[in-house]
Amino acid sequence: MASRVIPVDPFDLVVFGGTGDLARRKILPALFRRYCAGQMQAGTRIVAAARTEMDSAAYREMVAAALDEFDTPHAHDADQRRAFLDGLHYVTLDATGTQGWEELAALMSRDRIKAYYFSVGPALFGPLAERLHEYGMSDDEARIVVEKPFGRDLESARALNLTLARHFTESQIYRIDHYLGKETVQNLMAIRFGNMLFEPLWNSQYVDHIQITVAETVGVGGRADYYDRSGAMRDMVQNHLMQLLCLIAMEPPAKFDPSAVRDEKLKVIRALDPVVPNDIVRGQYRGVDDKPGYAEHVENAASTVESFIALKAHISNWRWAGTPFYLRTGKRLRARNSEIAVVFKEAPHSIFGAEAGRHRNILTIRLQPNEGIDLGVTIKEPGPGGMRLVDVPLDMTFTEALGPDAEDVPDAYERLIMDVIRGNQTLFMRGDEVEAAWAWTDPIIADWEASGDAPFAYDSGSAGPEEALALMHRDGRRWREIRL
Ligand code: NAD
Repeated sequence: MASRVIPVDPFDLVVFGGTGDLARRKILPALFRRYCAGQMQAGTRIVAAARTEMDSAAYREMVAAALDEFDTPHAHDADQRRAFLDGLHYVTLDATGTQGWEELAALMSRDRIKAYYFSVGPALFGPLAERLHEYGMSDDEARIVVEKPFGRDLESARALNLTLARHFTESQIYRIDHYLGKETVQNLMAIRFGNMLFEPLWNSQYVDHIQITVAETVGVGGRADYYDRSGAMRDMVQNHLMQLLCLIAMEPPAKFDPSAVRDEKLKVIRALDPVVPNDIVRGQYRGVDDKPGYAEHVENAASTVESFIALKAHISNWRWAGTPFYLRTGKRLRARNSEIAVVFKEAPHSIFGAEAGRHRNILTIRLQPNEGIDLGVTIKEPGPGGMRLVDVPLDMTFTEALGPDAEDVPDAYERLIMDVIRGNQTLFMRGDEVEAAWAWTDPIIADWEASGDAPFAYDSGSAGPEEALALMHRDGRRWREIRL
């Protein structure tokens, strides 16, 4: 099953913050892979712009090292690599001053798509937009790609939307959430809306509950300052988990186009009930053995910021009234394990009697590791011993199902950057979506900030605090295991 690559017209891409962690780890390797796949045509220009003083030759060396460190080994064709690197330009530029802007403006073409990727801290999003306009780079062919975090509450998100809107129309603004670029996330839509099998069952009559888990093994890493001012609710729930929730819960859009899909996602967010404090558990990892805990990582012993959150959400509409959505995310958990599990109700009556046990179907959409989908079905346990039932997975791991070409499935950043060039906003967040998501999370955060309550401690390497297990147990349900 060969993946088809449709080349895009030559374009200019500027990566602001081109020397930063995200650019080196994700953006440049993603561009290189698209280059190797033949998607970029001759004449495409990639320019990195950042504060560090260096020339293009030094920048190429930096990217070469980044490709060695972060790229997939199969793409190491020496000629392609040389040609890709030779095409990179670097401009030393100050996002808040005048240095570098005229040089950059002179490099830009007039008559082609120009994408400006804001891979810099959020305080620079506004100044970059303003300068792009000031230096004549915000024409109709220009697009801006804005990284997270998009605000830290409704007020700041609204202010940022207004700042960007002064110089760019909504159709030129691409707010990135890389979860939306994952193959499985799009497959979620293909499975729901491309098959007759699931959609009739996709409602509270048949679905008992839905669990969304994004479990990380990493701690706060090099982002301690930022993280200790954000926490899991702002960093993960307001964007990634809510986006997944929207895709799983939305009504079928009339067509797969940006406005239709984003309209439906927005309706989900607006139908979310406020979450009561009893339905939220916040946690913070503590050190185990010689491994430091959160407070040591952020060098703030008094920190009450959460590195884990579990909550129960309700969507008040016809489809979902009565079906809870359990969301959970955390750092330093037992395994790197992200999935959405749709847990169906039990059959209304068991013809096999009580001894056959209780069984239900679970559709699991795995985001990482092993992107794929499995459907748990109940079958007869093989053997002569009468009718004993057992649950087995119908497993579709994409790399197996798609064969050797699965390796060529683009990663999230590859797909999303190419979508920017193609002008397809379906997998990007619209301004009103982001604001609605903050409007839901703000009161939750305000509540616990007012209470001053400390989060529950959990051991690094565990599944989170005990209290999160209790959140499910009291409803007669349990979390799926965070598997190694
Ligand atoms: P970083 O600190 O590693 O890099 C910041 C970049 O911005 C550097 O290239 C630096 O030179 C440049 N810069 C700083 N001040 C500047 C100025 N005044 N003018 C011009 N350039 C300037 O940050 P990062 O981790 O690469 O993150 C970039 C953005 O991406 C942030 O908004 C971050 O929240 C977001 N993000 C990062 C990750 C990640 O894994 N690193 C993941 C998701 C989102």
